[in-house]
Amino acid sequence: MTDRKSELAENLARVQERIGTACAAAGRAREEVTLIVVTKTYPASDVRLLADLGVRHVAENRDQDAAPKAAACADLPLSWHFVGQLQTNKVRSVAGYAHLVQSVDRPKLVTALSAAAAGAGRELGCLVQIALDAESGERGARGGVAPEQLAELADLVAAAPGLRIEGVMTVAPLAGRFAGREQAAFERLVELSSRLRAHHPAATMVSAGMSADLEQAVAAGATHVRVGTAVLGARPRLG
Ligand SMILES: *Cc1c(COP(=O)(O)O)cnc(C)c1O
Repeated sequence: MTDRKSELAENLARVQERIGTACAAAGRAREEVTLIVVTKTYPASDVRLLADLGVRHVAENRDQDAAPKAAACADLPLSWHFVGQLQTNKVRSVAGYAHLVQSVDRPKLVTALSAAAAGAGRELGCLVQIALDAESGERGARGGVAPEQLAELADLVAAAPGLRIEGVMTVAPLAGRFAGREQAAFERLVELSSRLRAHHPAATMVSAGMSADLEQAVAAGATHVRVGTAVLGARPRLG
């Protein structure tokens, strides 16, 4: 193994162990939680090594970086998740390689994604991103809709050609009543997810938890954790 590959293998093993321990502590089966490795700012060569090491889900947050990387890795058995704030002028590109868009947070984006998916002859899974720090009617500082808007947005996705509603996503808020209370925030997301599933039973994904708070996410009931730094190392630049 190359140095980089063994480094990634070690990091991956450590993260897998953390997820396993958190599942055991929560009385959950290990299979209930899927690891998504956030490869943003890292090169396609790392994505290739990760795929070799058994990773099947990767996530990116900027289309400019993700599009060439996904193209360079098109031969790999990977699901690509888009997790960043998404402008409508990037939607056509994202719909060309993404399998899931986790950051759906406004009606205009739903319309654009639907048109792009239909144009590309693809079907896109969508998660509604919830901003737990947003007041009703506002969008969060890091993207996302206020919880009150979840039902309406999910209905729009479900009715849109080329899109499937798959669940909810959040990033632990830095402000508001959940600041510093990651587990409470993720428990709130799980509660919103149960309400969503009453109308959309197939929307079972709960995407929460990153390198620093994946244990809290697993304890709260997340089905997907998004881990970057703990697998790839501290990012060389903001992203
Ligand atoms: C970067 C990013 C992550 C991963 O964060 P780490 O702290 O590096 O694990 C997860 N989710 C989103 C939306 C991100 O942008």
